[in-house]
Amino acid sequence: MIAGIDLGTTNSLIGVYESGFPTLLADPDGNRLTPSVVHYMADGSILVGREARRMQGLHPDRTISSVKRLIGGRFGDKGTEGLIGAKGSPVTLPIDGKKLTPEEVSSEILKRLKTIAEDRLGTQVNRAVITVPAYFNDAQRAATKKAGELAGFTVERILSEPTAAALAYGLDKLSDRSKVAVYDLGGGTFDLSILQLDNGVFEVLSTHGETRLGGDDLDEAIAELLARKAGIDSFTPGTDARLKEAAREAKERLSTEESLTLRLPFLTGGKSLEIPITRAEMEMVCEPIIRRTRAHCLRSLEDAGLNATDLDQIILVGGSTRMPLVRRLVQEIFGREPNLSQHPDEAVALGAILQGAILEGNLRNIALLDVTPLSLGIETFGGLMNVIIPRNTTIPAKAGEMFTNAVAGQSGMTITILQGEREMAADNWKLGSLDIPFPPSPKGAARVGVQFSLDADGILQVLARDTAAGTEKIMEIRSAVEVSDEAVEAMLAGSLEHAFEDMDARIFTEARLKAEEMLPAVEAALAQLGSELPGDEIAEIHKQTTEVTSALQAKETTRLKQALSTLDQATQTLATRLMERAMG
Ligand code: AMP
Repeated sequence: MIAGIDLGTTNSLIGVYESGFPTLLADPDGNRLTPSVVHYMADGSILVGREARRMQGLHPDRTISSVKRLIGGRFGDKGTEGLIGAKGSPVTLPIDGKKLTPEEVSSEILKRLKTIAEDRLGTQVNRAVITVPAYFNDAQRAATKKAGELAGFTVERILSEPTAAALAYGLDKLSDRSKVAVYDLGGGTFDLSILQLDNGVFEVLSTHGETRLGGDDLDEAIAELLARKAGIDSFTPGTDARLKEAAREAKERLSTEESLTLRLPFLTGGKSLEIPITRAEMEMVCEPIIRRTRAHCLRSLEDAGLNATDLDQIILVGGSTRMPLVRRLVQEIFGREPNLSQHPDEAVALGAILQGAILEGNLRNIALLDVTPLSLGIETFGGLMNVIIPRNTTIPAKAGEMFTNAVAGQSGMTITILQGEREMAADNWKLGSLDIPFPPSPKGAARVGVQFSLDADGILQVLARDTAAGTEKIMEIRSAVEVSDEAVEAMLAGSLEHAFEDMDARIFTEARLKAEEMLPAVEAALAQLGSELPGDEIAEIHKQTTEVTSALQAKETTRLKQALSTLDQATQTLATRLMERAMG
């Protein structure tokens, strides 16, 4: 039996496909949502879920929530402020002098879900499909998979949340080529993905979002509002946690009530507080945060080459989309009512269960396709990005290219693996590198094949092979992305912003490489055959080589290209003579 798991920032769910239906499983108290909170007791025992959340106010230092924001991350990323560790190294969390990894903390949540399922079903549940936000990078997907394994699961698939949600909403039954926007605002992450149904198969046309935007941010803003209204200006960590808890309660209740009064006994210095709050007041502080989703929606549409009117449906995912303010804003952005037919906070889990059933062979006719959020490639001569798998390619995907040595006598090549949308390698992210040795050979004689395979979980395997000797190196990219989550966003924005400069840099580099190859070749040819050419022709060649050199020094792209083409013309006779000589 394959369980479906929605491993959320705030809440997690588990379920299985039972007698023809996807079924979410509840704990003995009847709760299907398990808060993604882990509490480490002084005696070494571990609490997960509601019990852990209750301890948060009392022992914030022993309680970890929103660990999904840290998974696969590194010290120095946003959200790691206050955590101590060497910048750039994988995040760990200190508990009782021990260092826990986010995977280990997540695995406690997964273990709890496993127990809930096994208790309910009376049988072992060892296989799972786990969902992640659409643009989790390699490191984050691999870390999530690892967490599943630590919890004792064989992870059959890491599935993107919007694709899961689309399945849960039954959108596979729409007519062919229907287009759907999935607006997912949960506790900690936001994404907007556009899917298209193509011959019964979901394809992700585009996805944009932020992994640090959600209900947690709303809670924080509302907590500040509550503190202002109550005139509290000095905080202890305990007060802060209790205010946030109160803020969340207010927020959730205000989705259906117009106003309420929060009672906070003994909040500060033994003082009890009563704070009245209305939906309108709350919306005032939440609106700027929720409005940030708009730009992502518009960008996703633009990426997919669509107008809002081209969409057939808008579906809502994530607990925060229960807020009337969010629904109004979604309607405003897309000019149409969102589909409210599913529980927004259960849709992803239901989809994961359905995906599990498909893998088990219990459901047919639907395949799910995911896409690469950013391009993958390697660095080539002159520091250029050479894309091997472009952004928005459907995965699993496989692609390769043949490379050769740029320098004579070179005895090996370093393959630097890159992710990103910029033209110059240095502006992209380095995922790792591989050294492939080969015997020293003349320029252009070595043959190194590089193959990228992206599996269905989005984990990248790079294979480099020296085709002459058969030497082979393989690397699996699971953890080396030294960038923060919102850098994905920044990368896309950066590639738009720098499009012109980047293109210029690429054209210049290509021209420079050509110049560097041509200048010594012309010089060598002149030394060999110069005496056979008329003086004015030699003078013209010298004039043009000087022009190429000075354009190169001045870094003037257009001038360099012009000079190279003039030099090309000026050396026509020389080249012909050289060719004749070579042919004997
Ligand atoms: P998820 O990550 O999908 O579990 O969403 C959790 C987030 O949804 C948390 O920030 C919750 O406070 C929020 N949430 C759940 N129910 C409601 C509700 N009725 N109104 C507003 N927010 C809610």
